[in-house]
Amino acid sequence: MLVAPQVSAFHPPRRILMGPGPSDVYPEVLAAQARPTVGHLDPLFVGMMDEVKSLLQYAFQTSNTMTVALSAPGSAGMEACFVNLVEPGGKVIVCRNGVFGERMRQNVVRLGAVPVLVDSPWGQPVDPDAVESALKANPDARFLAFVHAETSTGALSDAKTLCALAKRHGCLSIVDAVTSLGGVELRVDEWGVDAVYSGSQKCLSCVPGLSPLSFSPAAVEKLQARQSAVPSWFLDQTLVMAYWGGGKRSYHHTAPVNALYALHESLRQLAGEGLEAAWQRHRDMHLLLRDGLEKLGLKFVVDAAARLPQLNAVYIPEGIDDAATRNRLLQEYNLEIGGGLGDLAGKAWRIGLMGYGARRENVALCLKALESVLK
Ligand code: PLP
Repeated sequence: MLVAPQVSAFHPPRRILMGPGPSDVYPEVLAAQARPTVGHLDPLFVGMMDEVKSLLQYAFQTSNTMTVALSAPGSAGMEACFVNLVEPGGKVIVCRNGVFGERMRQNVVRLGAVPVLVDSPWGQPVDPDAVESALKANPDARFLAFVHAETSTGALSDAKTLCALAKRHGCLSIVDAVTSLGGVELRVDEWGVDAVYSGSQKCLSCVPGLSPLSFSPAAVEKLQARQSAVPSWFLDQTLVMAYWGGGKRSYHHTAPVNALYALHESLRQLAGEGLEAAWQRHRDMHLLLRDGLEKLGLKFVVDAAARLPQLNAVYIPEGIDDAATRNRLLQEYNLEIGGGLGDLAGKAWRIGLMGYGARRENVALCLKALESVLK
């Protein structure tokens, strides 16, 4: 018999989360999550899920029926797009300008499909001309996959142009909107996005662990016309829709009931503010932060034209110890900023202004704390 470990209840401090996510969670969302758990097939809960669905349709700006929140993080949203739509031997144009484009490539390879890479240097957006050349050179490609907001570098790609190119060349678009949803303009129906996924922990300022996902009617048609079974049971959207779809709900898996209360509340906050107002707030707070960072002598990784307001990547000044500085911010100011990822590890900091975190007081605290630790 193992002896029971003697541990205390976990009481984390209240950090200010200004990294690449998770972001600061709305207090109302934390409160929503603490409400009593009900059964996941309880009619009241099912009614709340219908509201989550229409709030997600608003956030994505889509009327797609297949719009759900997967009970798993953003990586599962990515995987769901590939496992449902791509079949072995299929060709996918994958744009790679950071960590998450590379993750898309790995998904394609694991499915026995063929990735055609369009690489852009880290810190730059996806190049539409290079994508067009790849589409022309590969008329048998059926998908174009790219990351709208590359969290590893802070670069924003032109999703509207890329999706239009995909359509013109007979491809469905698969778009990573993990960091973009709620923080920058994203119009799924107007731009012709076919498969899109996000994460709860970035600009939605919800607790981590859920992945909003939406498929266009063309993507649903592709899924229904598959020659082979979807190779993942859990992520098979034809099964998931039996739970999330209209009509009679049937058991698929036990939904994370309280996490969905949290998502419901965070989407309600976004709808209350209004999408366009939220995009503008992210822009305004970014400009405020940018001015302060530049005064401190910090240089941005991404050119102004492609800069994400919600993810500010700046080079670490010469002679400054990355880990020690971030640790001081955490210990002395309760402030978390992100380190660099992949090619930018040890070279850049990533300062997030996401959702509820994109506030004047956060910008002021971050600038004050950085000024003091960089002295
Ligand atoms: N895609 C992008 C652009 C991301 O930033 C992230 C996470 O940071 C992911 C995918 C993966 O999401 P998760 O960590 O929730 O699995």
